[in-house]
Amino acid sequence: MNIAIDGPSGAGKSSLAKAIARRLSIVYVDTGALYRSIGLYMKEHGIDPKDEVAVSAALPAVDLSLRFENREQHIYLCGRDVGDRIRTPEMSLYASAVSALPAVRAFLLDTQRSIAQKTSVIMDGRDIGTVILPDADVKIFLTASPEARARRRTAELKEKAIDARYEDVLSDMAIRDKNDSTRAIAPAVPAADAVLLDNSDMDAEQTVEAALAIIRKKVAQ
Ligand code: C5P
Repeated sequence: MNIAIDGPSGAGKSSLAKAIARRLSIVYVDTGALYRSIGLYMKEHGIDPKDEVAVSAALPAVDLSLRFENREQHIYLCGRDVGDRIRTPEMSLYASAVSALPAVRAFLLDTQRSIAQKTSVIMDGRDIGTVILPDADVKIFLTASPEARARRRTAELKEKAIDARYEDVLSDMAIRDKNDSTRAIAPAVPAADAVLLDNSDMDAEQTVEAALAIIRKKVAQ
């Protein structure tokens, strides 16, 4: 079984997908981490993430591998686990910039599809239901108001001891939302057959229950 969770940043996709993966004993794949890792590579090599020519030229040297250790996803970039280095606000913007480039999306397509072919997954991202897994058994588009998303993301960063102000997170989020939903390639929009779930007024547990209800209903059909 493959489940696609798409939606804007800060809607809680990864917390939801992790919880569902545990409940259903399937693998959770965080695709944003792949774009973040490519962003990290560009930063480490002094490459402007918006420079399509330079990024495309660098891609063949990007040695990215995805491993699952105790069901946890680890990304190795040129042999080194990227860990939390990809989780900073700066890397969010790098990821958003590189993700708008067709060469980067093409580079990551097979990596994502081949995992879903091998095993049951719940995969989160922006174009999982529309592009990566158009035949997913269940597609959920998870969303929430920008303020709710920025509040959660600020708390999450603080928990990781990454310094962040709510106002900055909210404005970075607005930039990313605009980049992600208006880009020409694979914009973050719901698939025609996705179920919309707005969790602005739900806590994490209520979101999991709502998503499980959607999954049960789809699977029973
Ligand atoms: O989900 P996360 O915030 O980690 O993603 C970082 C960035 O990577 C997003 O802002 C988006 O631009 C990009 N992304 C994407 N497609 C995906 C996952 C992430 O374009 N499937």
